[in-house]
Amino acid sequence: MTAAFRIGQGYDVHAFGPGDHVMLGGVRVAHEFGVLAHSDGDVVIHALCDALLGALALGDIGQHFPPSDPRWRGTDSRLFLRHCQELMLDAGWRLGNADVTVIGEQPKVGPHREEIRTALADILGVARLQVSVKATTTEGLGFEGRREGIAAQAVVLLVRA
Ligand code: MG
Repeated sequence: MTAAFRIGQGYDVHAFGPGDHVMLGGVRVAHEFGVLAHSDGDVVIHALCDALLGALALGDIGQHFPPSDPRWRGTDSRLFLRHCQELMLDAGWRLGNADVTVIGEQPKVGPHREEIRTALADILGVARLQVSVKATTTEGLGFEGRREGIAAQAVVLLVRA
């Protein structure tokens, strides 16, 4: 019997480094630090890509876009998400919904939430209602609490196209 649904989850972390902004879901958010990354270090998109690839059982983002490959240096991560979305469509699935949690003390996600939802929905070709973006701190605990970096988790549900 062919499954009607597929579920996937993803997680990503980037350490803060020199810079003045972070990319979150394709949106440039001003911040006192940048992130150390081979690409643009967009934890939201990287977590979403891994969730989509996980739902498709097609490996992970590092396999599709190896950090060792100079082609992806400084890459706009929206390219990664478009690629994963194409793989999803090619495999006969469409996105039911996606739910993302950004984990960190700073920068504050709330003021950018709707812009990020819209940006992600546009790339994924779905309605904004199908994309949720949440944020939490870790109450000062761990690397996020020490403001050493930022993390994101994502889950997706795919339905038969
Ligand atoms: Mg990453």
